Amino acid sequence: MNPKFFPAVDTWRVPREALEASVREMARDGIHGNEGIALWLGTREGGVVTITHVVCVRGQDVVREPAYLSVGSATLNEVGDVAIEHGVTFVGQIHSHGPRFGVDLSPTDRRFGVAVPYFLSLVAPDYALRTHISLDACGVHVFEPANGFRRLGGHEITERLAVVEDTEVTEITVGQPTP
Ligand SMILES: [Zn+2]
Repeated sequence: MNPKFFPAVDTWRVPREALEASVREMARDGIHGNEGIALWLGTREGGVVTITHVVCVRGQDVVREPAYLSVGSATLNEVGDVAIEHGVTFVGQIHSHGPRFGVDLSPTDRRFGVAVPYFLSLVAPDYALRTHISLDACGVHVFEPANGFRRLGGHEITERLAVVEDTEVTEITVGQPTP
């Protein structure tokens, strides 16, 4: 893959509000004992990605189960359209795992159809039902062009991901179920 088209991302700026909105979204499913998910859109300048939009998905092709989660291509296409409309890029996702399942990516997660260089893939613990979830409580994975998804260590999370307070976040819901 030509690195010119995918310049490396060094750091991600994650607004606290984006993290909190994502946790609220995942907890909606967590209370029913299912995994939940929120998608992140953002801007990219040089090696810095800033999360600006949290997308909640409600489509019928979204499957949330106790140990399985899948977002279908119709919803993903819709998210792509929303990103273009807002002039941002689909830069990451956060989904939850249940207690006992850990926060590594599952084999299914690794196949999740967003194998884009430097795509951020977070896994939150305990179905996101904790009152406070910090980034280092999550499994933080980055899709690297040469290796695929790699989980960052605690030190690297601190170095490369910053929770910021100064960025406005927009919440968007796509795939409203037909009434
Ligand atoms: Zn998973």
